[in-house]
Amino acid sequence: MRRPVPSADADPVPSHPGGVELLAAREALVAGTAVRRALPRRGRRTVGAWCFADHFGPAPVSPDAPVAIGPHPHTGLQTVTWLLEGEQRHRDSLGSDQVIRPGQLNLMTAGAGVVHAEESLDFRGRIHGVQLWVALPDTVRASPPSFEHVAELPSVALGAAVATVLVGSLAGVTSPAGVHSPILGADLRVGPGTAGLPLEPAFEHAVLVLEGAVEVEARTVAPGTLAYLGPGRHDLALRAGSPARALLLGGTPFGEPLLMWWNFVARTREELGAARRAWVEGDDRFGAVVSGLDRMPAPGLPWASGRGQGDG
Ligand code: MN
Repeated sequence: MRRPVPSADADPVPSHPGGVELLAAREALVAGTAVRRALPRRGRRTVGAWCFADHFGPAPVSPDAPVAIGPHPHTGLQTVTWLLEGEQRHRDSLGSDQVIRPGQLNLMTAGAGVVHAEESLDFRGRIHGVQLWVALPDTVRASPPSFEHVAELPSVALGAAVATVLVGSLAGVTSPAGVHSPILGADLRVGPGTAGLPLEPAFEHAVLVLEGAVEVEARTVAPGTLAYLGPGRHDLALRAGSPARALLLGGTPFGEPLLMWWNFVARTREELGAARRAWVEGDDRFGAVVSGLDRMPAPGLPWASGRGQGDG
């Protein structure tokens, strides 16, 4: 008997039925700084409504070498900012002006359109954190934008882990942050020892290690790798030999088709083209943010014929 030859077109995601899929993050640049982009990846675009996950730092910042992410637009998503170290000032076209520090959550709902800028200003030290996006469902994605800062989040001890719930609920503990689909985001301080986390079986989940190493169902996961777990699980065992830090992301598989390009989440190329045009032309759709930094130029649309990319 000959075994079937795997097709060259096979899904690049290794399949571990009932087990853990490990996905390498790719390196991307954000305002000149290298980040680990764990989502979207080829073959794994979303985990629930989570559609983007950048892990940045730890990296030194100072007034001479600050975080300086100039004004840029978003549509169709929520941004979730969570720091392990450092501080950043968020400003947006709603007039929000909010410094965020470790333990606090910034949640910006772009809806139809918003502009924001992020800067470390005169902070001197290390910056370490994550920038996550949540795709908005069709029913709310054209809503007016909003911004929420949550200064204190609930936490719960689960064996050798303490979980801080950023959005959604874990082990009966619920974050006050406003989201629009069944999702979970939790920060985990794990180890030394083993933690058993109760999971919502309708959710798919991912573990993103931020510091140290965590065994996820006996597979060792370190920063730069996303461990994906499909729906149908009621619990998850995590172990760490020494203190480690990870994010647990989850949600019901996002059933709507998504089209993501640059800072926009949409459904069609026409929508993406219209959002880009509104940004390039300085249309009211996005408003304006007070910032000393330059507005970020939009790259060219990759599918626009007769124009080069990066024609800003
Ligand atoms: Mn942004």
